[in-house]
Amino acid sequence: MNEMLLLGPGPSNCPPSVLQALAQPTLGHLDPQFLELMEGLQEDLRSLFRTRNALTIAVSGTGTCGMEALLTNLIESGDRVVVCVNGVFGGRAAELLRRLGARVESVEELWGRPVDPEPVAVALAAERTKALFFVHAETSTGALSDAKALAALAHEHGALAIADCVTSLGGVPVLVDEWELDAVFSGTQKCLSVPPGLAPITLGPAALDALDERRSPPPSWYLDLDLVRHYWGPQRTYHHTAPVNMLYGLAAGLRLVREEGLEPRWARHQAAHDRLVSGLAELGLEILPPPGARLPMLNAVIIPDDVNEVDVRIGLRDRHRIEIGAGLGDLKGRVWRVGLMGENARPEVVDRFLAALAEELGR
Ligand SMILES: *Cc1c(COP(=O)(O)O)cnc(C)c1O
Repeated sequence: MNEMLLLGPGPSNCPPSVLQALAQPTLGHLDPQFLELMEGLQEDLRSLFRTRNALTIAVSGTGTCGMEALLTNLIESGDRVVVCVNGVFGGRAAELLRRLGARVESVEELWGRPVDPEPVAVALAAERTKALFFVHAETSTGALSDAKALAALAHEHGALAIADCVTSLGGVPVLVDEWELDAVFSGTQKCLSVPPGLAPITLGPAALDALDERRSPPPSWYLDLDLVRHYWGPQRTYHHTAPVNMLYGLAAGLRLVREEGLEPRWARHQAAHDRLVSGLAELGLEILPPPGARLPMLNAVIIPDDVNEVDVRIGLRDRHRIEIGAGLGDLKGRVWRVGLMGENARPEVVDRFLAALAEELGR
């Protein structure tokens, strides 16, 4: 494969140590060496999520699999769930929940805006609610919502706070214990710069109670967390074969996060974003979400009226080997999505992108 600079909504480029880790000899999934690696991995995931939650593991599947694992286990048919929809991923959760037989109350927000807590409070107050679902960092629009405020609102109304932190984890603060998030899922290919294929999740005490109180087992056997946790826990009961080499890759990625430190990593993402925004301003370009609600790692750039957005993306890809994302749904044709995730949140990457974009816009 020819290398590309991946500045879309994910995946991001993987550092060499992660790629080397993937290529290590496969071990048995109950091999003591491998079990030791899994122990370290769980510790690293807890640090990454800023949590002491015992049930903090990586589900076998991409970010959506993490979403499905949490919703399938925490929600039962007939449960009422308030879902904040300010982009593609809130909409995805609402659809998934409907398929689980949940009573879904969607709270819609304009794409490009953060979730507004006021209508969410009204929806929560209307009826007894099992859970509030929201997307912390909406990758389809570049908007960052206030996870702490939304979790507090959920708890005021006796609901679980379930958060999609696929894009935020490793790029901006995700403070699971401090913000009292009950259940959180993420993915590996965004700000962790590990290939797609695993979904880190963490469940707090209230979420564990919800698992225990289920009236019947979850409809998915593969994602049944009560079974999955007994493989990750001291019992080591076989459930499904762990994706061994993928877990090597994640361990290597988390090692880099640990060595860098979370605060410096968040600062690096913010600095890259700031550099991008000022460079874009020089080209006369603006970011869609309002200041204060902008994701550093995913920049929704408003496309000027006189520009053929497809030509620019193809030019970037073919002449500069840079991939960026197109707009989705409501934002199709209105924005480009420029990711500066994980390894790619660096000034030299921003400068390379800005130079290439300036050249393509000049055509
Ligand atoms: C990427 C993403 C997902 C889905 O993850 P996949 O790895 O594509 O399954 C879910 N939510 C958000 C916010 C994302 O950015």
